[in-house]
Amino acid sequence: MIYLDHNATTPVDPAVLEAMEPFWRGHFANPGSNSILARPIKRALSTAREQCADLLGCDPAELIFTSGGTESLNTALHSLTTSAGARRHLIVGSTEHEAVLRPVAHLEAALGWEITRLPVDAAGEWTLTDLAAAIRPGETAAVVLMWANNETGVTHPIPQAAALAAAHGIPVLTDAVQAAGKVPLALNESGVQFAAFSGHKFNAPKGTGLLYVRANTAFEPLLRGGGQENGRRSGTENVAGIVGLGAAAKWAAASWERMEALAARRDHFENEVLRRIPGSHRNGHPHHRVPNTASLRFDGTQAEGLLLLLDQKCICASAGSACSTGSLHPSHVLTAMGLDPASARSTLRFSLGRTTTDEELATTVSALEAAVAKFRSLMPS
Ligand code: PLP
Repeated sequence: MIYLDHNATTPVDPAVLEAMEPFWRGHFANPGSNSILARPIKRALSTAREQCADLLGCDPAELIFTSGGTESLNTALHSLTTSAGARRHLIVGSTEHEAVLRPVAHLEAALGWEITRLPVDAAGEWTLTDLAAAIRPGETAAVVLMWANNETGVTHPIPQAAALAAAHGIPVLTDAVQAAGKVPLALNESGVQFAAFSGHKFNAPKGTGLLYVRANTAFEPLLRGGGQENGRRSGTENVAGIVGLGAAAKWAAASWERMEALAARRDHFENEVLRRIPGSHRNGHPHHRVPNTASLRFDGTQAEGLLLLLDQKCICASAGSACSTGSLHPSHVLTAMGLDPASARSTLRFSLGRTTTDEELATTVSALEAAVAKFRSLMPS
């Protein structure tokens, strides 16, 4: 199996699994209890928090453990909108993940919030000029922009956006789910108030995530109850998952060179595809992007058919984002970039992982070349 869908989810690293195992066996105590049994659990949670803070460049106390990216984003949006006073306007990127777009659409439709959706150009980028023009002093409650896009990998100038927003006292939430472990983040210097992360995107188990809340930022919890996470996210901790999250963060922080090497591997793969397959194109900015993602489209084809042909060769990629697979709608990210629906539907996303090899990519180029040729011969446009 050649797995090139790491933006959908990543395998749990063996070292992560090993770190987690004791917490499914002997170390079962509730970390909230005062018993002697709970001591190693409390220590493990605190180590995991430090490991995550190390990767993200922030203070451990600024991190809240959650169940994943969706919960972190919904929590931050809840906090931002309930602490907004009379402000009722949000600025949101048009290529955000559904975990932002849907709660924002709910705020608009059910609660009367005004939303400005920031447009992107053909490369998938919004501009600081458009952001500045969208800000309504005294009305804008928050700016919500992703650090890296899940479909194209395009990265955005979040610290510059945060500086612009700060000049008007507007907090920024960034969806950094696809950026963690792929590009250095230095949250302390980023200027953002909130950042959301998901463990299963960087070799930790599913059901784990983080919400960064800058020190001294107003915060309204979404989950109230037993007061865990300093009252910011109630519910008994997913101890083994959190330990895994910490171990994955430690591994990611220790292997930046592998990520950098991945960019060269991805570029070579992409160039080979574009050279060997006529009518193939890259989506998104060629340089402003994370090192592991290639979004490619093939004239006169449809992603679903190509994916089936690749699947027969045991190669796993995706059509646009995993969440839109199976849906009849073309990707909102690609259409926001100006692609017509047919071109958006002819797009495949290849997302590499730290362990992806040159041999796997060479095999994929040949299989893709054959799949595109077969599709075009069976279904001439
Ligand atoms: N944001 C982005 C950019 C994502 O890619 C995803 C998952 O695909 C999410 C948010 C949601 O994360 P989770 O699956 O952890 O809820």
